[in-house]
Amino acid sequence: MPAVNGAAKALDHTTALEVLKNDYAERDGLDIHTLIDSKRNGGLTYNDLLVLPGYIGFPAADVNLETPVTKRISLKTPFLSSPMDTVTEHNMAIHMALLGGLGVIHHNCSVEDQAEMVRKVKRYENGFILDPVVISPNTTVGEAKALKEKCGFGGFPVTESGTLQSKLVGIITARDIQFHDKLDEPVTDVMSTDLVTAKVGISLEEANEVLRKSRKGKLPIVDDNGNLLSLVSRSDLMKNQNFPLASKLPESKQLIAAAAIGTRPEDKIRLEKLVEAGLDIAILDSSQGNSMYQIEMIKFIKEKYPGLDVIGGNVVTRDQAASLIAAGVDGLRIGMGSGSACITQEVMAVGRPQATSVYNVTRFARRFGVPCIADGGIQNVGHIVKGLAMGATTIMMGGLLAGTTESPGQYFVSREGQLVKAYRGMGSIDAMEDKKAGAGSKDAKASNAGTARYFSEGDRVLVAQGVSGSVLDRGSLTKFLPYLQAGVQHSLQDIGVPSLAELKDAVEDGKVRFELRTASAQAEGNVHGLHSFDKKLYS
Ligand code: GDP
Ligand code: GDP
Ligand code: 5GP
Repeated sequence: MPAVNGAAKALDHTTALEVLKNDYAERDGLDIHTLIDSKRNGGLTYNDLLVLPGYIGFPAADVNLETPVTKRISLKTPFLSSPMDTVTEHNMAIHMALLGGLGVIHHNCSVEDQAEMVRKVKRYENGFILDPVVISPNTTVGEAKALKEKCGFGGFPVTESGTLQSKLVGIITARDIQFHDKLDEPVTDVMSTDLVTAKVGISLEEANEVLRKSRKGKLPIVDDNGNLLSLVSRSDLMKNQNFPLASKLPESKQLIAAAAIGTRPEDKIRLEKLVEAGLDIAILDSSQGNSMYQIEMIKFIKEKYPGLDVIGGNVVTRDQAASLIAAGVDGLRIGMGSGSACITQEVMAVGRPQATSVYNVTRFARRFGVPCIADGGIQNVGHIVKGLAMGATTIMMGGLLAGTTESPGQYFVSREGQLVKAYRGMGSIDAMEDKKAGAGSKDAKASNAGTARYFSEGDRVLVAQGVSGSVLDRGSLTKFLPYLQAGVQHSLQDIGVPSLAELKDAVEDGKVRFELRTASAQAEGNVHGLHSFDKKLYS
């Protein structure tokens, strides 16, 4: 009979865990530093690697995805939507924030339009509404109806002078004017005057309690003389309840607003308008962020608006990151040429595979406490997890979100009969020409996102760095983002880490193991050998 396990005496099975406990070299796979040894392995993309499974000791739903997006601001989920004109306008930005992420509003539009989008995000949800729209007793029913159309809400306090800090005389709500067709009559004929109000100084919790008990839609807050100071709205209680992950600032309870700008002199005027509208985070939108223009802009913003957070980029190397960190950025955006609609690497011969970029930049940036966004090339949940495992704190997506109902534009039927939406690179000829023509813009000069981002503004020949195409319908973001969230939680459970913060540490010290993925491993890891199949991702 052959000897079991050869001649060597088998180890006691109870020591199996001890053997691997502190000796990472004995373990399967590679630590991240050996994996991303670009001198040996070249630059790696997300598809070139896999994470090895760990130990599951907690439910997936408990995995904590809280993560910083800037030095000062954290989100409950690590998802960002890209500042592209086929991805993020106010509707996407509002829904991204409600679901725990952040939508970055694009700047391929006039200053006024972009500022209006920021305003819509900031106004969408409130604690105390500090600047409520107020009307005067002379306002007509017709004017109140028009105001409702313009604002998107119809509850207006009426004060003696029609302004804040004037004596409150009544309140008009959508129901008061809905069926009132005498448009010339003053609102005083239909407004409610039996008001439940609260005194200034009341806490938000207490104000909410008064609202709950009063069963009214609005609670005006007044001073001792009955002058209106602010307003609390019942629908905000519902919003808070329905979207527990919402990205809000603690003081105001308003959604966090982020928007992109360029780095030209006129962008300083643009920024001023965005800040007036309530902007919290400015993203400097450049495909190659390490420029004198961007460094000057960062310094200008940090000096003029110390309360505003600035994210610089894009960068893919430590050298690039160092310049922007030295200038004072609060966050970095990583990626060059990895976007789905992007041809930069092909045309410019410049760029870097994304997994290697994220690893290198985040390794450097974390020493200065600067959070990093992995931007571009995300096609599925696995790519998101790999971006996070490489060191990014958040993940930015364009093409993956462009097919949701919350993105700008209409669905149409493709030649193959599928429901699709337009998606185009901001450096595509289409996007740049729209810019040059000032399409949709009241101020063509200040509106140059595509050309500014790709530095071909003054050129006679526009050199494209992106393409224009379409993406498949993905339904509503309200289903799709929770799917991405649950997917990431399950993945972290498989890896054996209960939070994004712990993922970072476990990757760094070699506990989380990786493996390079050969071309045949990639083929094996995808559906193969089936005659046909449906790829339904969630239900
Ligand atoms: P949260 O309930 O997790 O948001 O807890 P917070 O400590 O942030 O909120 C404190 C109080 O403010 C609680 O009574 C919340 O219900 C309330 N609150 C939170 N967000 C909003 C909001 O958007 N509007 C209003 N009116 N109240 C809010
Ligand atoms: P309304 O009853 O027609 O006023 O509308 P809702 O109560 O359904 O919604 C009002 C929403 O708009 C709330 O989330 C408010 O926080 C928000 N909002 C923002 N600014 C204002 C404002 O000036 N007045 C009012 N009434 N709501 C505002
Ligand atoms: P996606 O998620 O579609 O793979 O990539 C989105 C990212 O691609 C954007 O956030 C932006 O960084 C980048 N991008 C957008 N438009 C262009 C373009 O025209 N050219 C290049 N090189 N990158 C683009």
